[in-house]
Amino acid sequence: MNIEFSMLDMRTMAFASSVSGFLMAATMLGIYHAGMRARAMLDWLVAGLAFGFGYLLGNLALVTSLPVSDEIAISLANALISAGHAFVLVGVQRYLGQRTWTAPLLGVVGLLFVLGIAVEGLREALSLRILMFNMLHFLLAAWTGLLLWRSRRRGMRSFHRMAAAVLLGFAVVLAFRFASELVEPLAGRVITHETSQGLGFLGAMIFGFLLTMAFAVMMFREKQVELMDLAERDPLTGMNNRLSLDEIAEKYMQRADCHGLDLSVLLFDLDHFKRVNDEFGHQVGDRVLGEVARRINQVMRGNDVAFRFGGEEFLALLPGAALDQAEQVAERLRQVISARPIAVGEHRLGLTASFGVAQYMPGRETWDDCVRRVDEALYRSKRGGRDRISRHAPIAVDAV
Ligand code: GH3
Ligand code: MG
Ligand code: MG
Repeated sequence: MNIEFSMLDMRTMAFASSVSGFLMAATMLGIYHAGMRARAMLDWLVAGLAFGFGYLLGNLALVTSLPVSDEIAISLANALISAGHAFVLVGVQRYLGQRTWTAPLLGVVGLLFVLGIAVEGLREALSLRILMFNMLHFLLAAWTGLLLWRSRRRGMRSFHRMAAAVLLGFAVVLAFRFASELVEPLAGRVITHETSQGLGFLGAMIFGFLLTMAFAVMMFREKQVELMDLAERDPLTGMNNRLSLDEIAEKYMQRADCHGLDLSVLLFDLDHFKRVNDEFGHQVGDRVLGEVARRINQVMRGNDVAFRFGGEEFLALLPGAALDQAEQVAERLRQVISARPIAVGEHRLGLTASFGVAQYMPGRETWDDCVRRVDEALYRSKRGGRDRISRHAPIAVDAV
């Protein structure tokens, strides 16, 4: 089948590509202004402007006579578009927390621009310039796409891959363009009304629209993940808070119910903590809680999760642990809390904690029942003199 691509009028296509660049800039500005204050948004804003002005310049060179020669205008347009691709990469590097390559990338773009207008042979050879810039754009888009594809940020995987797919897809288009130019070089010194050129602009326009959308959705998701993290984290200790407990407990209980996986629960409360506040003030108390949280996290292994359950009360879920193992974990926690005094400023505070341990009984109790049992055990530790561990043995089946 032979499709008539000459209907892709180059001037219009170049203009549409420039609109897609400006749209990208405007979208990034809007999202930044709306509260997604990531520096990467500004890189992508600059990228959008560079695409926008680059394609606009290309369009103007085609429709009117500019005060500079067509070769210079086209070279400048190419350099701007290359800078756009460079800033897309820089933004992604910044977004992923990697070192950015701003200066070297802009250096390469600048060098190609200077070569393009200064070297006689290059200025004459449209085809060679197209090859040169196509290769650069291909490398930038492919590299950016791979960075996003390989990212493992929690909750972001599919969103990164969506943006990566856009970038890698465009890299494939650029590779084709490069190959077709090799096979059948364009003649002349400036762009002529060639089909491949119109197709190139069409690709750039679609790429700009899709990338804008992918980045916007990605950043929306990023904010969402950030807010979810905040909602589930206790700001004082950085531990999971009670809000996240129900969800995680539900997950582990289901595994216990369906797959017979052991699940134990520890509940512990610092002893005479009120005295810390009374004697040293609330602020010292807060810092002690932060240090206790740090020590608790040292003991947690594998899928164990600790939560701040209340003021100075903590709960740990130990999937895969039966009662005896859970008791050992409790003992490690008891020791790590009481072994060394906690230093806050010039104060050194000796602290102990009391523990309750229970193993979840799959199919025979609800989560609330299990918490009630472990709470009873904790209460026994307190009554028994504190700084100790009490277990709530599973209730015999016929007694339930
Ligand atoms: P017990 O051994 O019986 O547990 O004695 P306790 O003094 O620890 O008593 P209880 O657990 O009932 O009291 C908890 C105290 O912990 C009350 C409150 O002053 C303090 N507390 C709770 N949350 C915080 C907090 O976020 N920061 C500070 N500084 N203190 C807190
Ligand atoms: Mg207490
Ligand atoms: Mg308490």
